[in-house]
Amino acid sequence: MINKPKGTYDLIGLDSKLYQYICNTIDNYMVNYHYDFIRTPVFEATELFHRTVGDNTDIVTKETYDFIDRGERKITLRPEGTAGVVRSVIENKLYGNRNDALKYYYIGTMYRYERPQAGRYRELTQFGVEVFNSSSIIIDAEVISMGYNILKDLGIDNFTVKINCLGDSLSRNNYIKALKDYLKPHINELCEDCQKRYETNPLRILDCKIDKDSLILKNIPNITLYLSKDSLEKFNKLKELLTLLDIDYEIDNKLVRGLDYYDDVVWEYTTDSENLALGGGGRYNNLVSNLGGPNLPAIGFGMGIDRIILELKKILPQENNIIGNIDVYIMCVSLEEKMHGVKIAQDLRLNNIITEINNNDLSLKAQFKIADILKAKLLLILNNDDLAKGLINVKDNVTKEEIKIDEKEIVDYILGNL
Ligand code: AMP
Repeated sequence: MINKPKGTYDLIGLDSKLYQYICNTIDNYMVNYHYDFIRTPVFEATELFHRTVGDNTDIVTKETYDFIDRGERKITLRPEGTAGVVRSVIENKLYGNRNDALKYYYIGTMYRYERPQAGRYRELTQFGVEVFNSSSIIIDAEVISMGYNILKDLGIDNFTVKINCLGDSLSRNNYIKALKDYLKPHINELCEDCQKRYETNPLRILDCKIDKDSLILKNIPNITLYLSKDSLEKFNKLKELLTLLDIDYEIDNKLVRGLDYYDDVVWEYTTDSENLALGGGGRYNNLVSNLGGPNLPAIGFGMGIDRIILELKKILPQENNIIGNIDVYIMCVSLEEKMHGVKIAQDLRLNNIITEINNNDLSLKAQFKIADILKAKLLLILNNDDLAKGLINVKDNVTKEEIKIDEKEIVDYILGNL
């Protein structure tokens, strides 16, 4: 037998129902928030990720799936969604002459060679949004609150929005200098990775999981003190806006996020349990121009759908299978009954009634059982005698009441009784 590759899983059973429920919810939100769906390739030129995510980030140095294709090109399976979207915006000149924001969302698989554990996979699905051509806090607030509202709407309550401001590149460089000065006498006390980060990516030391409780990290200089007047004013206004929108947020001055391209606001949706983030994002005002595009400020976030599935499974009642239940089960045994049944099933389905029919040669007893498993609300128990008179026997599967309905009226009757 051939097994699935390490760190992957098949989306089946309740997981697949939840996946679709999550994606449908997201799609509906995106209509109201007025975001366009975008799909970019699962693989891109390796260089794209080195130039966006960053040469010294964990993702690029340790986690990418890289290969040379048959045409000798260096290719990487995308580890995140922003780089491809940015490339597409530049390559297709999607910005045109517009002076309003361009708003995109995607749902797709990403690939990271990480050490697998619960909630950490090598193939993961992210929902993400990217907004270009606006540096307004209206967009910052829109994007942060949208992610919050989606999680709440899905039924997740035990999470917090942590936000921080990294400032523009000048204030960030000032902070990095202060950080390095502060850490210099303590380098040897840091973990091995942080000792390397000190040279390559010092901001990442702030969210090191190993050193996080050490006194050195607790007393680290506060980034807020290094922000430019402009960054600080915007950040304060953004906080006001989030309060106005009823978003529960916390300031976390140590939040820096793993990727190189962020500036100004960054945030994460973190669960109270297990320290696994459900999503996170930030502003990246210089990425488009760094990649050869025009000067387009941008902001975005990515959310892990696999982790949302895990959270939902924790809070759903044990016997839950609300998602996937059906409205009507059509019971039929003889060929005559089946011929009628198929036609009725089509009529109901075309009227948005979720319908299932005996799709095997099952006895009536077995069909009652299946209808219960599927939690059918109404049963249509077809029999030759009734059908000859143009009647359908309808049974309410909860009250167990039965009634005979004219076959021509059946759609209207069911629509009125669900
Ligand atoms: P990141 O691009 O690292 O900020 O990731 C955004 C979100 O994707 C995270 O908050 C997680 O919810 C999810 N995520 C990241 N890496 C993984 C992984 N290996 N497995 C499952 N979900 C992940």
